[in-house]
Amino acid sequence: MKEVKSPRKPLLFYYAIVMVVLMLLNAFVFPMLLRPRMTEVSYKSFLDKVDEGSVGLVQIESSRILFTEKGDDKQVYETGVVDDPGLVDRLNKAGVDFTSPIVREASPLMNFLISWVIPIALFVAAGQYLSRNLMQRMGGTNAMQLGKSNAKIYIESKTGIKFDDVAGQDEAKEALGEIVDFLHNPGKYTEIGAVMPKGALLVGPPGTGKTLLAKAVAGEANVPFFSISGSEFVEMFVGMGAAKVRDLFKQAGEKAPCIVFIDEIDTIGKRRDSGGLPGSNDEREQTLNQLLSEMDGFDARKGVVILAATNRPEVLDPALLRPGRFDRRIPVELPDLTGRVAILKVHLKKIKTETNINLESVARTAAGASGADLANIINEAALRAVREGRRSVTQSDLEESVETVIAGAQQKSRVLSDREKNIVAYHEIGHALVAASQTHSAPVHKITIIPRTSGALGYTLQVEQDEHFLVTKEEMENKIATLTGGRSAEEIVFGSVTTGASNDIEQATKLARAMITRFGMTEEFGMVGFEQEGSRYLGGGGGMACSDETSSRIDEMTVAIVHKQHERARAILREKMSVLHSLAKHLYEKETITGEEFMQILEKEEAMCMLPAEDKA
Ligand code: ADP
Ligand code: MG
Ligand code: ZN
Repeated sequence: MKEVKSPRKPLLFYYAIVMVVLMLLNAFVFPMLLRPRMTEVSYKSFLDKVDEGSVGLVQIESSRILFTEKGDDKQVYETGVVDDPGLVDRLNKAGVDFTSPIVREASPLMNFLISWVIPIALFVAAGQYLSRNLMQRMGGTNAMQLGKSNAKIYIESKTGIKFDDVAGQDEAKEALGEIVDFLHNPGKYTEIGAVMPKGALLVGPPGTGKTLLAKAVAGEANVPFFSISGSEFVEMFVGMGAAKVRDLFKQAGEKAPCIVFIDEIDTIGKRRDSGGLPGSNDEREQTLNQLLSEMDGFDARKGVVILAATNRPEVLDPALLRPGRFDRRIPVELPDLTGRVAILKVHLKKIKTETNINLESVARTAAGASGADLANIINEAALRAVREGRRSVTQSDLEESVETVIAGAQQKSRVLSDREKNIVAYHEIGHALVAASQTHSAPVHKITIIPRTSGALGYTLQVEQDEHFLVTKEEMENKIATLTGGRSAEEIVFGSVTTGASNDIEQATKLARAMITRFGMTEEFGMVGFEQEGSRYLGGGGGMACSDETSSRIDEMTVAIVHKQHERARAILREKMSVLHSLAKHLYEKETITGEEFMQILEKEEAMCMLPAEDKA
């Protein structure tokens, strides 16, 4: 954003200064420049000089007489006019030339120019300059030039980013590679009669590399690359955005073949009918209309390909998506395990590491992380290494930074009281034990009761063995049970509850509700969905689309599902009281335990329980 400075002085102030300066110039400086030195003498001494014969030239005017001395025409003398009929004779007698002028009166035209035209011209110019300055400081363009735009369009054909810098996303790279290939040798395509799609839309959650991919296209294509962000079209005046679009496409047309990239297109491409005050969307609507008509007016064979990116495809105007416009959609999804490993590898190249790094285990813990998150994880790890005065990044740096990115940094300054620490230990072991007691539940990877900056007082990290994309109803229920496990342990052991479970409660409720409204996992409703389409990539749920009665029934059912799983979690924990106590004690002492430690203790205790009663003693 440009910094907006408020003008220090009002415009009038500058006008006043210019005015005063001009007046001073007019009154003193110009006359001095135009006139020679003038000395006033008496009429008597004038006559004396004439008689002496020392006068050179004489100029008689109606109100004064000017004369010079012989041999010095720089010094001009002035004297008043006296009614003296004998003067001409006298001058003639002395042989003085009184016909040629000494001081040429400035011509009337010159006079007019100096006293009127130049000041006014200066005045107007100063005003123009100042107002333009002012407008620029306010972030707009000169009001005199409405219709023209100062579209900041940068051609960056050398971004230096190649497809190799984008890890994973092979499908997207393939689709974009075709476009690049077309721009390199269009003949191959036009020969068969194939026409390139005019536009391709990169859609996906934030941080998955959409902008990066577009830059890589520029790097690969070797053709001019016009890049502009949707928000740059939003202007102060109605019509300016449309003018920018026009400008952009005009420039692109001149540079074809080329690529035009519009990032965050949802800022201008929102559905046109979407509410708001009447007239309030004029600017955006005009901009969008202009974009649509420019896209139509374009001949794809000329070789202008339009790329756009968005993480909110559902708000885009349908007109943008119809064939002939952004008819190719390129999904850029969150990376899977192999994708995450590849992305980590790309970013790891930039930093110094020890040799024995196991990226796969890092990638496994970072389930659900986007490319941007992973880049951030690597950077956090490097920062941690520096903080601890090491020269290279270790495996534990990476693992700690995954947690930092997922759960926030460790907050060493927050000191829990012993009692609180004890409660948190039981809470976390409660989660872990419920998870471990169920089949189809992700194994426990790590349990810690070191507070995090995100506000969590402790957490249990579960990591899936293999990635899977379908979740069964049983798994959903297990997950809810696991979430209630923390609170259950508190209830059983301390007989009271704390606020520590608020996040668990939120998640459990969300899952239970989704089972009913989105996944059709209840007998009562079956395969009926009640949720309107929300923002898929930004995680926002849509509104509910059902009657009030259904809505309250859904609430009841949500409560029932969570209750049932909560009850189950309590039952599991009651059965494992002794192992709950010993694990919680262990965690309390060590503050962080790994999944293996957890399993070892669990197996040892369970083996003891299995022993016949007489051997136990
Ligand atoms: P988006 O535009 O989809 O929100 P960006 O392209 O701006 O995301 O990505 C942000 C950063 O995340 C990139 O600069 C890059 O460092 C990293 N990143 C994201 N995806 C990838 C990927 N597939 N490979 C390598 N780095 C990635
Ligand atoms: Mg982006
Ligand atoms: Zn919890």
